[in-house]
Amino acid sequence: MIKRAYIDLEACNQSRDCEAMKHCTKEAINFDDGKLFIDQLCNGCGKCKKYCSNQAIKLV
Ligand code: SF4
Repeated sequence: MIKRAYIDLEACNQSRDCEAMKHCTKEAINFDDGKLFIDQLCNGCGKCKKYCSNQAIKLV
């Protein structure tokens, strides 16, 4: 089963300067209506996780 990343909205600080967003090679992390979300382009590589200082990104 392919893993996907998702953002724990209680842990995420919704920073416009999100390091995880900058480092996603699929550009799958985006803002929508002021909230960060991970879209269907995510391939579950897990790279973003290590850049989130709040441990807000999980893989399922
Ligand atoms: S798991 Fe990989 S492809 Fe998915 S959002 Fe994180 S860095 Fe991007």
